[in-house]
Parts: sequence; C-alpha cells; structure tokens
Amino acid sequence: MRNIHDDVHVVQARGLTKVYGARRVVDGVDLMVRAGEVYGFLGPNGAGKTTTLRILLGLVRLSEGTVRVLGHRPGDPRGLIGVGALVEGPGLYPYLSGRDNLRVMARYAGVPMRRVDEVLELVNLTDRAADRFATYSLGMKQRLGVAAALLKDPKLLILDEPSNGLDPAGMAEMRRLIRRLGTGERTVLLSSHQLAEVEEICDRVGVISQGRMLAEGTVAELRGEGQLMVRADPLPRAREVAERVLGPQRVSVVDGVLRLRTAPHRAAVVNRALVAADVAVSELRVVERTLEDVFFELTGGAGQPRVGEER
Ligand code: ATP
Repeated sequence: MRNIHDDVHVVQARGLTKVYGARRVVDGVDLMVRAGEVYGFLGPNGAGKTTTLRILLGLVRLSEGTVRVLGHRPGDPRGLIGVGALVEGPGLYPYLSGRDNLRVMARYAGVPMRRVDEVLELVNLTDRAADRFATYSLGMKQRLGVAAALLKDPKLLILDEPSNGLDPAGMAEMRRLIRRLGTGERTVLLSSHQLAEVEEICDRVGVISQGRMLAEGTVAELRGEGQLMVRADPLPRAREVAERVLGPQRVSVVDGVLRLRTAPHRAAVVNRALVAADVAVSELRVVERTLEDVFFELTGGAGQPRVGEER
C-alpha cells in the first residue's frame, strides 16, 4: 500500500535551470514530487536528469529557479537528514564485506548499528553480507548502494538510473526492490531512460528531453485516451455513424480503417450504433498507446532508446 498525499510535496522545484557556459542543460523545469509516491524522471541520455537530481541534493548549484526539498533549500542539513541518495557510484570499499561497508557508513552518519542488518535484509543481501564487496555482481553492488542510501531511514530516496548496466535478472530484482521501498510513507524519486521501468514501478512520470520537462502525469494520463480500430462496410456510412456518436474530431480513416479516439469502454456503444445503422462490422479492437509511443512523440524520436534497451 502506498500512502500518497496529493497536497504534500516532498520536492518542489519551479523554473529549475542550470547553465553551463552558454548551454541551458536544465531549462525551466517544474517538478513536484508528492509525499509517498514513486516518481520517475524519464529521459534520454544527456536530457538533464542527473544534473537535476544533483541540484536537489545540493551537489550542483542552481543557476535560476526555486527549489525546496522536504521544505528546505537544496543542501540544507535540515532537509538532507531526510534524504537518502544513490547518485554517483556508491563509493564502497572493495576489500570490506558488504556489512562492514555499511557499518563504516552507519558510524559516520551516527546511525545505530542494528540498522545495518535491517537494510541488508531490505535489499535482500543478508546471505552475502559477509562477502567482500569486490566479489559482488553489479546488481548486488547497486543494491548495497541502495542499502547505504536507506541507512538513515530517509523520507525521500533519490536514485539515479538504479538499473543502469544491470542484466535482465538484476534489473527485475532492482524493480521489485524499488516497488517494495516505495510502499507506505516513503517517497522515491528515480531517474531512468527505460520506459518499461518507469511504466512498471512509477506512480507518476515526468518526461524530460534537452533540459525541458515535456510532460508530467500518471502513466495512464500520459498515454491519454485509447483508440478503437473498426473495420466496417460500407465505410462512408460507418464514418457518419461514428461521427454522430463521438463527434467528427474523434474520427479518422487510416488505410480504409476507422480510427476512433475514445476510451475502450465506448466500444460497445459504437458497435451497437453501427449495427443499428446496417453497417457490417468485421473487426473492432482497442489500440492502446504505449508509454513508448508517447515518449517518442514528445521527444521527437530519433536516436532515443527503445524499451529495455541498454545505452
Ligand atoms: P545521462 O543519462 O547520460 O546521465 P542525464 O539526463 O542524466 O543523462 P546530465 O548528466 O544531467 O544528463 O547532463 C545533461 C547535459 O549537461 C549533458 O549534455 C552534459 O554534457 C552536460 N553537463 C553535465 N555536467 C556538466 C558540467 N559539469 N559542465 C558542463 N556540462 C555538463
């Protein structure tokens, strides 16, 4: 169960801008992350995701705009105390065990030692906790990085491309983990260039490309309404009927087939009207837009990653 609070924003960014030389690598981004949600920041390589996350953490200075993280300016210790992050590589000691790495961090952060075993359990590394970090698979290393980010039991967990470079099994495990971590009151903000990932685990998604936020919403909102595809005879009569039922702006003909922009549940109404008008319907099916379709429309397509593709 997620407890999402629509009216409480853990991250509030308005007009967030970062200028390097003459380039606005992040350009007027508005970002509102609600308490309790898993928010996916989706964009191709170089879109400005890492820079944005680093700004939120106070690691990069903002050029323009206003940002509050847990009610404080980025980098303010009062806000940072509630934030756990995996943004750079986790920076762990190769010759120490997973557990000892976390103990070092716990001591440094003033976290009780019992928390180390709790977070190892959370990321499913208890069995391998005594092994040296250097012997871990990439997926295990990433999970230990997440465990480190969880030590302070943060309200907000920020993960930059947590599945990057992982094999399919590692990716699946990371997704399961993030879904688990995103339950209850904890908020998760992650970046990804993988559509399948955000589609599977995020409550809301912000699409960023070339430093600009192109769209924001739930996956369902971004997909928009579905389409119905209808093969019918005679076609002109079918078109007339569909226009009467749905309005002309929702009806088009593509390759001799009717395309209706409407919610899938209207299929029965459309079908009844066509049959009542003596139109023979040989095929009627729902065409779902995928998040991938939306993403390519928004970002212009060329050179963008495909679903599940590694960079
Ligand atoms: P990726 O998935 O490749 O990491 P990203 O969406 O995280 O992409 P950023 O790392 O935020 O993108 O980079 C956005 C742009 O800003 C890139 O063109 C990058 O070259 C540029 N950039 C990042 N840091 C600096 C810097 N310190 N100086 C100059 N340009 C920078």
